[in-house]
Amino acid sequence: MINRRSFNKVLSALAGSAFLSACQNNSSKKTPFYKGDVIISTWANTNANEVAKSILNKNGSLLDAIEKGINSVEEDPKDTSVGFGGRPDNSGEVTLDACIMDEKGNAGSVTCLKEVVNAVSVARKVMEETPHVILTGQGAHNFAMDQGFKKTNLLTEDSKIAYDKWLQKSIYNPEINIERHDTIGMIARNAKGTISGACSTSGLAYKIPGRVGDSPIIGSGLFVDNEVGAATATGLGEIVLKSCSTFLVVELMRNGMSPAQACKEAVTRINNKYDIKDLQVGLIAINKAGEHGAYSIQPGFVYAVTNNEKTTVIDSKSLT
Ligand code: ASP
Repeated sequence: MINRRSFNKVLSALAGSAFLSACQNNSSKKTPFYKGDVIISTWANTNANEVAKSILNKNGSLLDAIEKGINSVEEDPKDTSVGFGGRPDNSGEVTLDACIMDEKGNAGSVTCLKEVVNAVSVARKVMEETPHVILTGQGAHNFAMDQGFKKTNLLTEDSKIAYDKWLQKSIYNPEINIERHDTIGMIARNAKGTISGACSTSGLAYKIPGRVGDSPIIGSGLFVDNEVGAATATGLGEIVLKSCSTFLVVELMRNGMSPAQACKEAVTRINNKYDIKDLQVGLIAINKAGEHGAYSIQPGFVYAVTNNEKTTVIDSKSLT
């Protein structure tokens, strides 16, 4: 006979199974951007992170997500330090540097690339379609044309006006924290623990033609080691190049430091060695567990973080 107690048991069993099936339905609707996935990028590049997240939501690969996220900045004429609309060198020509690195340690890079908007996509082609790591200048351009990239004049009207104004004095004087969007470096880790990254820039405005910065150099502008984590840099490339900063950050994390501690140590070493009072270096990093952090020499550096809940812009701590 069914008594009150057993009736309650049946009710709670029914409620339990309804709850379970609601959970199951819910989990089948769950976005592929899982808890544990994390995308971080230099500066307030929230839109780029959202583009990357949307690729992951469509079951795209981590590398596709990073590439497309960076493409969105390369294609934005308002971003004056990356891709189309980037500031030119001192001869008035826009040249781009970019690199990409996957979880297997494969890498591709282009330096001094002219007349192609999506430098990071050309870098990916170098990684995937050639036996080389770096293609430069005319060779990089010819390769991009062979790969079907479109030839585009990268100098926008606004950049031309700014260049003509600059020519009146012609003083090379790299600025820090340009409108919160210099080089875009993006590194990401998915819930499976796979880590990849890339970066893209037009380099320092009004540089000497042929100048290559840190961004396309593996270990300087970007380094990924799937066993440990990844790091990427922005700021005065010459100093990052001389310090192998992103390789150093990943090695410091390997030896037990958190991403923020490793970035702090790397910018501290730069600061102790070089006299760069007015210049900036900002580093961001993630580790295998998906923890992230940043550190910069000067205040004003920020980075964008996207997880399965939201995208936020975080103020980096700095040495000064
Ligand atoms: N690191 C870049 C370069 O030196 C510039 C930047 O991030 O502002 O080319």
